[in-house]
Amino acid sequence: NTFAEIDLGEALNENIRRCKYVRPTPVQRNAIPISLGGRDLMACAQTGSGKTAAFCFPIISGIMRGQPVQRPPRGVRTVYPLALVLSPTRELSMQIHEEAKKFSYQTGVRVVVAYGGAPINQQLRDLERGVDILVATPGRLVDLLERARVSLQMIRYLALDEADRMLDMGFEPQIRKIVQQMDMPPPGVRQTMLFSATFPREIQRLAADFLSNYIFLAV
Ligand code: AMP
Repeated sequence: NTFAEIDLGEALNENIRRCKYVRPTPVQRNAIPISLGGRDLMACAQTGSGKTAAFCFPIISGIMRGQPVQRPPRGVRTVYPLALVLSPTRELSMQIHEEAKKFSYQTGVRVVVAYGGAPINQQLRDLERGVDILVATPGRLVDLLERARVSLQMIRYLALDEADRMLDMGFEPQIRKIVQQMDMPPPGVRQTMLFSATFPREIQRLAADFLSNYIFLAV
């Protein structure tokens, strides 16, 4: 009933207190236990429902408590994030990044944002300093993948935010290209969360293609 009762790891629970979140919103109350339990999730969530925390908390908690990872030295400039959050716009990406940074304060989890419509150089410098959670818009991420500055080989958590809006904006080819680059790990190793306000056929098809044995949450 309160965040204090959910064990997300000491540093994250402390950050949640600092943000003055006491009670989970309905989408958080349902989505967080499902994700902590390791299941894939497709959730109906509007703006303002608290969906950012719903996908950030399990990701941060999972990375904090996960085994230390050995990232392959493919090229000195290639970085290997463990989690990817895809979002349709620069504005939404910036918002998610700001929130994710607050939640990951002193957890050791590093968050970087990369969006289109802005010079890539600062984003490349941010990436070079190390990244665990990458928040990105699909077009800019494809660019980074083509430059081999990001590898998705180590992705363990994938969150698609406002998936219906991403499809409306024509990002389906980019999204498919991105997901194809994630090594197909054994089932249960990569966890995917898809958030959308609406569920047209195209979203159901994405869910069928990207999620495995998922729980559908409509709150
Ligand atoms: P979102 O839907 O993720 O954009 O969140 C909407 C707003 O609600 C943001 O300003 C969040 O900081 C805030 N918020 C999210 N979850 C909670 C919560 N459990 N308690 C209080 N505020 C929250």
